[in-house]
Amino acid sequence: MIKAVVFDWAGTTIDYGSRAPLVAFQRAFHNFGIEISESTIRADIGLDKLSHVKKMMKLKPLQDQWLARYPDVSIEEAIQKIYQEFQIEIRAVLQDTAKLKPGMTELLRYLDHNRIAVATTTGYNQEMLNEVSPLAAAQGYVPKFNITSEQTNYVGRPNPDMLLLAMKKLGIEDPSQVIKVGDTVNDILEGRNAGVTSVGVIEGSNLIGLSKEDYLKLDYDEKMAVKRHAHDQFIKAGANDVIDSIDQLIGVIKDMDELSSFDHENRQEILLTPGPLTTSANVKKAMLIDHGTWDDDYKGVTQEIRGELLAIGKASPKAYTSVLMQGSGTFCVEATLGTAIPQNQASVLMIAINGAYGERMAQIADYYGITHIDLQFNEDQPVDPARVLDEIAKHPEVTHFAVVHCETTTGILNPIERIIPILNKMGIVTIVDAMSSFGGVSIDINRLGVDYLISSANKCIQGVPGFGFVIAKKSVIDKTQGNARSLSLDLYEQYRCFEDHDGKWRFTSPTHVVYAFQEAIEELKDEGGVEARTQRYQANEQLLRNKMILLDYEPVIDEQVQSPIITTFKYPSENFDFHQLYEFLKDRGFVIYPGKVSKIDSFRIGNIGEVYEADIERLVALVGKYDKSVTASA
Ligand SMILES: *Cc1c(COP(=O)(O)O)cnc(C)c1O
Repeated sequence: MIKAVVFDWAGTTIDYGSRAPLVAFQRAFHNFGIEISESTIRADIGLDKLSHVKKMMKLKPLQDQWLARYPDVSIEEAIQKIYQEFQIEIRAVLQDTAKLKPGMTELLRYLDHNRIAVATTTGYNQEMLNEVSPLAAAQGYVPKFNITSEQTNYVGRPNPDMLLLAMKKLGIEDPSQVIKVGDTVNDILEGRNAGVTSVGVIEGSNLIGLSKEDYLKLDYDEKMAVKRHAHDQFIKAGANDVIDSIDQLIGVIKDMDELSSFDHENRQEILLTPGPLTTSANVKKAMLIDHGTWDDDYKGVTQEIRGELLAIGKASPKAYTSVLMQGSGTFCVEATLGTAIPQNQASVLMIAINGAYGERMAQIADYYGITHIDLQFNEDQPVDPARVLDEIAKHPEVTHFAVVHCETTTGILNPIERIIPILNKMGIVTIVDAMSSFGGVSIDINRLGVDYLISSANKCIQGVPGFGFVIAKKSVIDKTQGNARSLSLDLYEQYRCFEDHDGKWRFTSPTHVVYAFQEAIEELKDEGGVEARTQRYQANEQLLRNKMILLDYEPVIDEQVQSPIITTFKYPSENFDFHQLYEFLKDRGFVIYPGKVSKIDSFRIGNIGEVYEADIERLVALVGKYDKSVTASA
């Protein structure tokens, strides 16, 4: 939490445009008949005033002017004389310029209300400070401590000594609890050197250097140009944040407090990824107990789950069975292809491909030496039923057909209901990878007549990773004995073991995951079943899509073919840095997902899991905030 703000004085909290030292320096030099430009003075502003005079008097043209007029007075003496003159002049000027800058009163009220201490470090010397403080106090500004370089053996900015002394007096050791605010490059450096957060304020700053009247005379473009220039100087100096007006510090503090209150040790980010995804507390709790696998209770749980899966998929228990399989979703896809398709030349698999998961099936077929015909579609287009039927007609040798339902690469929902029933009637064995849609999108297995439908524990049922499952037509899987080329991925033997031993898993099963899954199924029913869950996901998706479009993030696919599962967005510009956005969101409690579309730079945000519209609202607000911070530093 932020405990203290250390302000600079001139140009930051008082003296709009930091005019006082400028005018006083000009008058001091003028009193010796020397004219000096504003820009020369500004070059080193923020230093303590004696060092500043020394620095200016190192300049050859000034030395020449001085020695021409006063050949008998050394430069060392000149420095002392000009400095003394400056101190006289500044006193008069300060009387006019000690007015608090706009927004200060509001900011001071916020700091006071939140018990955030205020101290200052300054380029003023003690005498100048003595002039200014009562004038500021009369306006309600009374810092707890004011540090001048006299208190640090004349070690001023950009060294951190004054700031460190202020922290010591405030009793603060942790630099993450302190913000330094200033209007010059030296202010920013002082903060950075002390290890605190450095914030630059633009309006009324020394970096702009105009009086309020002169600033207001600028037209819009001129204002933007001087502001951009000041902004860039701050960023170049290493500012952690740059604000327009001083009261915007309130937002900076709120942001920083929000970030630090996020428990980074016991963090539980919301996963906006298509599995593993955010699960409920009770699903996680279900894993806190250890179970044996020979246990009748455990076998009962397995049997219950197998039955529930059929119900979720509207599959009749007479015609269908469900087979659970250890491993990730891909293990199930591989077990299905490797068991459903016999090892002979007569079997030919056609795969409709419009994304990475379709490609993965082709890859598996290659591994197994399965003859396959790949039907490629554009990644941003759904699989076209007419073309599938065309190709099937052209290839009478096809015995098996596989397609992905929700292609998680983009979030496209492929129209399986217009493909599978037809192929089924033709006697072709059909395989659907419904990994990321099952439980989140209504699927009527009886009506589809699909032979194998595959999904996993950690997608829309909202369990944790550890196993997948295949809902298989009994009459079809019954004929696959001996087909498998892999012992552990033999879907038929796995099925028989469950059937013949009352729900006994073949080999060690992921017990904790199974109990968590049982709880997840209960929660799906409590929510109102697949239809209610679809509605929640859809609401998330629509909110996400609409709000992201407002922020200029364009979806990759058309709304008509969009599933409620996951949404893919194009990079908003060429120099968009996904990793930076990812880290920004992760620091604030959200994990998003990189893109997988091959031809388009994109990233993905999942809408599934224990995620609600309020979460999406918060996410999108953060994306907006991120955009602003990037534009500001661009
Ligand atoms: C998640 C997913 C898979 C399986 O991926 P794993 O990493 O093996 O769990 C397969 N197909 C689709 C469409 C998926 O979304």
